[in-house]
Amino acid sequence: MITDIWSSFLHIVRDEVGSRVVETWFKAVSFHQWDAVNKCVYLEAPNAFVKNWIQNNYIDLIKVHLGRLLHVEKPEIIFIDDGTKVCSAPAEITIDSISSPLVPVNVKKNNTSQQVTKNALIKPSTMQGGSHVNSAYTFDTFVVGPTNSLAYAAAYAITEKPGSLYNPLFIYGGSGLGKTHLLHAIGNAIKERQPNSIILYQTADRFVNEFISAIRFDKIHKFQAKYHLVDVLLIDDIQFIANKEQTQEAFFHIFNTLYESHKQIVFSSDTTPHTLQGMAERLRSRLAWGLVTDIHVPHLETKIAILKKKAKVSQVELCDEVAYFIAERVTSNIRELEGALVRVMAFASLTNQIITLDLARKVLRAEQKSSAPVDFNRIIRILHRYYPHDLQALCSKDRNKDVAFARHVAMFLMKKLTDKSLRDIGQFLGGRNHATVVHAINKVEAQRKTDVDFQYRINTIESEIVG
Ligand code: ADP
Ligand code: MG
Repeated sequence: MITDIWSSFLHIVRDEVGSRVVETWFKAVSFHQWDAVNKCVYLEAPNAFVKNWIQNNYIDLIKVHLGRLLHVEKPEIIFIDDGTKVCSAPAEITIDSISSPLVPVNVKKNNTSQQVTKNALIKPSTMQGGSHVNSAYTFDTFVVGPTNSLAYAAAYAITEKPGSLYNPLFIYGGSGLGKTHLLHAIGNAIKERQPNSIILYQTADRFVNEFISAIRFDKIHKFQAKYHLVDVLLIDDIQFIANKEQTQEAFFHIFNTLYESHKQIVFSSDTTPHTLQGMAERLRSRLAWGLVTDIHVPHLETKIAILKKKAKVSQVELCDEVAYFIAERVTSNIRELEGALVRVMAFASLTNQIITLDLARKVLRAEQKSSAPVDFNRIIRILHRYYPHDLQALCSKDRNKDVAFARHVAMFLMKKLTDKSLRDIGQFLGGRNHATVVHAINKVEAQRKTDVDFQYRINTIESEIVG
């Protein structure tokens, strides 16, 4: 039965993408028809927003799992759009059920042209063939600000003369700051300028797996040949080949071959080549041969500009006050910033409301309570805004009065705001024993009773932690 297939699909993907994605997106969709002759699945979405979202973010997932259930390889997925159907929101959209995608906002401007009718086929996904380059990540969709302008400029420059300017280019920075985006943008721009060039985007962990399977199945020559052929090699998160000696060895030779033939190589990493742990010295030195550039956390203005750009790409107008509100809330990771925006947009769309400051507040506040569980790292992060000592200092043996005091406050808050044991708390903060934690908590309690300023401070920190 068709309905059983869809239920089985929901059941399977729940494990893969989580309940929130299923509740938000997949449950809003119904399985309309299976055309076994043409191997087409017809789905129905409640509105264009949901349809576009699924098409742009989850289509491969649907193909794989429905394919397996229907015993065909990658069936065609078609969203029916008879133009007469009244768009209705799926039952019971609650703020808690709104979820962000696992992949970026990449609803294209020309999405209206992607409207499909019963007999139309879905456009190819944004992924270009075997190059793994995602066409949604371009220089056009990248917002440049003071903290990423050097990386952007270098990335852009190499697209004009691949292999000859900065080779290799090494971009490093924290998570969610745009490294992967820039790597894809390089791939897309070079593809546009030189359509015949062979571009390969690969994450380092995929490289490792590919290498292992090449060894297992005795296909190492094929593996090497594939890499020797490329004109532009984009390796994301190179830190993942740390401590993998054999893979590093294989990569070293690929690097040399490409480099000697003036092929462009680009790396991203979470840290500088110099501080990469577990990397053979000769490879580490090669990583730094060209230009090493960093990306930092964006300023507020850049975050606002990013939000506005992302909203525009999804054909949503975002007013300044909402953009400001979201930008201020999400401090250090653009992926999270984007996730917050998507949840606000999805909630507004699914409940047929316009995006106002009130709505954004409601969605993000509720979410912080329900989905941002208070954990030790969150407490330390927020505490750090009030006390200048970071996790390393708090965990250290430093007995300096100020450090010890911040450590006591951390212990107090951990006990109060989580259900972890005193032992867990002591363990987390530098392997301290149970008695030390009890002592610290008592000290903070006592001071709270006598010092009104301190009491006020603790309350403020506490409310910021719980949101
Ligand atoms: P990283 O690889 O550094 O962890 P990503 O490149 O995956 O980060 O970026 C996370 C998300 O944030 C992506 O959706 C990306 O499009 C977006 N993003 C990051 N920086 C920018 C920027 N400057 N302008 C627009 N979007 C950005
Ligand atoms: Mg990345």
